[in-house]
Amino acid sequence: KNDQLLEQQNTRESNARSYPRRLPMAIDQAEGIYLTDMDGKRYIDFLAGAGTLALGHNHPAVLEAMEKVLKDKRPLHTLDFTTPIKEQFVDEIFECLPEEFRKNAKIQFCGPTGGDAIEAALKLVKTATGNRSILSFQGAYHGATHATMSISGNTKPKEKIQGLMPDVQFLPYPYQYRCPFGVGGEESHKISSQYIENLLNDPESGLLAPAGMILEAVQGEGGSIPAPIPWLKEIRRITKEKGIPLIIDEVQSGIGRTGKMFAFEHAGIVPDVLVLSKAIGGSLPLSVVIYNKELDLWSPGAHIGTFRGNQMAMAAGTATLKFMKETNLVEHAAKMGELLKDILKDLQKDIKQIGDVRGRGLMVGVEMINHEEPQNANGSHPADSQLASAIQQECFQRGLILEVGGRHGSVVRFLPPLIVTESQLREATAIFEQAVRAAVA
Ligand code: PMP
Repeated sequence: KNDQLLEQQNTRESNARSYPRRLPMAIDQAEGIYLTDMDGKRYIDFLAGAGTLALGHNHPAVLEAMEKVLKDKRPLHTLDFTTPIKEQFVDEIFECLPEEFRKNAKIQFCGPTGGDAIEAALKLVKTATGNRSILSFQGAYHGATHATMSISGNTKPKEKIQGLMPDVQFLPYPYQYRCPFGVGGEESHKISSQYIENLLNDPESGLLAPAGMILEAVQGEGGSIPAPIPWLKEIRRITKEKGIPLIIDEVQSGIGRTGKMFAFEHAGIVPDVLVLSKAIGGSLPLSVVIYNKELDLWSPGAHIGTFRGNQMAMAAGTATLKFMKETNLVEHAAKMGELLKDILKDLQKDIKQIGDVRGRGLMVGVEMINHEEPQNANGSHPADSQLASAIQQECFQRGLILEVGGRHGSVVRFLPPLIVTESQLREATAIFEQAVRAAVA
């Protein structure tokens, strides 16, 4: 039955489809961390909707909230009018924010993808500052629309798209394992922040006055790369001193994924603009921009869209946030993340092709290398994307779904639902170990 649906998909769906090419399955059922395909094969889903499914598939708390919307005959479509469901969602999400940020926070509902919310954030800071240039980072991923692609690092998909947004300056992200300055080591992030400060101070840098800086506190698609905490603090200091609005994209890292509600909290900083999507809709499409009200200088209708704040998604999102708070799920995610990294680091001791194990909370990456090739200038061995893909296939055959990403396609990425238990983690990592051993053999 899988084959039949896949055949239909392959003949009818666009050439741009992506996941099913590498993970050819037709999904029948889903519950918790598990998916079942049409032939009854069960998979552990550590892709989890690209990091969306904080509570896993079909969590009872989420289903109950959605059933209630239907039972009470709440309106399913409300444009950007308010409703009790919406105000409850805003209460819930505001309660998650650090006080320093919450006290001046405003929210804009966007529609309803991460990419659209990033678009809104860019328009917001451009309007507020009157400037047009955006500072972004090497390896960043912010979406696939024209503007979000423009501020994303991956140059390959850009080659085919003429007329992307101009005036984007890319800065070096502190990717410790492959230090962009070829230095490496614990302190190498200092070169990045010093370089950025120098650029902003230099009247001859050639930079246009920035409308804002956008970053992921843990790069996701770029290869599960956590920015060092001191670097994040430095960047916050520099942007504050220079009056540059700092947009933190927590579309993937937000809502508990990194073992704190938001990844920026690890550094004790707050952004000027926070972008959220994925997990906040409790499996359904929803995205918001939350920002300091001093930036609220755009006109009515400055960011519109038909689908802004879907009721079902807001109800599911509220249920997700409530469940997370009631069960201390964020702390659980932090604990599980440590365990996952420990297990993977143990494996690294035995497998020379594992160059790096890194991450924050349950946003973890394993970078595969060709250890027989000589080291690069930065001390790391060349990335091995073929091996990463082979491991993904070996995992898939054994019933574990993992994403592969990173600058060189060499990072196997773990994004399990935050509800994952210790025994489930051990089950998944045992499959991963078999898959790695099979792929390197
Ligand atoms: N920002 C980040 C950090 C992301 O990981 C993603 C999605 N992977 C996006 C933005 C774009 O979100 P969407 O795919 O919903 O447009």
